[in-house]
Amino acid sequence: VIIPTLADVRALDAADPLGPLRDLFDLPDGLTYLDGNSLGALPRATAGRLHEVVTTEWGRGLIRSWDDAHWFDAPRRLGDKLAPLIGAAPGEVAVSDCTSVNLYKALHAAMSTVDPERSIIVVERDAFPTDRYVAQAVAHRFGADLHLVERDNLYEALSPHVGVLLVSEIDYRTGHWCEMAEVTASAHHEGIVTVWDLCHSVGAVPIDVHAAHADYAVGCTYKYLNGGPGAPAFVWSHPRHADRRSSPITGWWSHAEPFAMSRTFTAGEGATAWLTGAQPILALAALDCGLDTVLAGAPAGEMSALRAKSVALTELFLTLVDARLGDQLEVITQRDPTRRGSQVSLAHPDAYGVVQALAARGVVGDVRGGSTPDADLARFGFAPLYTRFVDVWQAVDQLAEVLGADEHKDPAYAIRRTVT
Ligand SMILES: *Cc1c(COP(=O)(O)O)cnc(C)c1O
Repeated sequence: VIIPTLADVRALDAADPLGPLRDLFDLPDGLTYLDGNSLGALPRATAGRLHEVVTTEWGRGLIRSWDDAHWFDAPRRLGDKLAPLIGAAPGEVAVSDCTSVNLYKALHAAMSTVDPERSIIVVERDAFPTDRYVAQAVAHRFGADLHLVERDNLYEALSPHVGVLLVSEIDYRTGHWCEMAEVTASAHHEGIVTVWDLCHSVGAVPIDVHAAHADYAVGCTYKYLNGGPGAPAFVWSHPRHADRRSSPITGWWSHAEPFAMSRTFTAGEGATAWLTGAQPILALAALDCGLDTVLAGAPAGEMSALRAKSVALTELFLTLVDARLGDQLEVITQRDPTRRGSQVSLAHPDAYGVVQALAARGVVGDVRGGSTPDADLARFGFAPLYTRFVDVWQAVDQLAEVLGADEHKDPAYAIRRTVT
């Protein structure tokens, strides 16, 4: 293996056709931001757009802006804009609420379509906690059992007693990328309906829910889609379920004709049925700007160039970590690039201290815990729209400084912040 020098890394940036996309973002000078997998960077267009929505559309247009400024259609319009990034068709994706709420809707809808004999919901034991909590609530509602399985043993958990399988395409802790088409095919072979959590895949890897024959999918937009903190999430279901599935939260926005103010509920078609009530227009306007940045890098939803850069970034990080720090940290993420997303996770007994000491040096990653402190992981996300190769170099260089000087042992890092 040839270890790249700083000059080599600078040359990679100079030759990177996606390099200019970084200018779409307002990133602080001197900061190495490797946490776009938790909160995407601020697009330059967002502040101006929000100002316009607040002062002109709201301030001047007032109530008429629901029509004139197309506020009312925003959840479906943005759903259509996002759709190519997950391989969905127009009219199928709704942008609304948070991922947890959409997950509840999708799991509930899926369970309500399966034979009552199928009284098991299968979820990964190490799934993102909200996914487990929501699945538990839905299982309770249907009198079903929740089966928690290891991600490596998903196939063994599939049986004719299972109604629904919930899987994260990319694991939020390790970055492991699960084969959506293969898992879906095995599930369908047993008559099981699949619900996919795309939080860590959308905007990071190519997704094709139709090619994979997936049933339902949800995901978040404040990570790789740069929608802003708490930006509305999305929900999709395959049109083959359209006649049978129903959202458990039917509000006036799910109605075919909300302004008919009808006494009876008639579900709207496609994405409309997933909506609930009035949606946060300011947050949707910010998400619109976030989607613009991704679509600038992935024209027409084609993720291949962004994916190629993401692989090059994670490969460089792994090469430098192996060469300089291989004996001090354990790489948890898949070595095979086809099996990992756009992040790399490193295990260290004091991962929290390491990440805090790095932040003090201007390199931002984050920490996700295991069931024991020993299993803590330092996560580094490489959002391909704005991460430079020199950022990767800088991160490993600063990591070497932190570990070399035992900076992570600073007692100040013994107290955890609320958000790690
Ligand atoms: C980020 C994330 C969520 C976020 O859920 P919200 O309800 O939008 O806060 C859910 N699931 C996974 C796997 C995530 O990574």
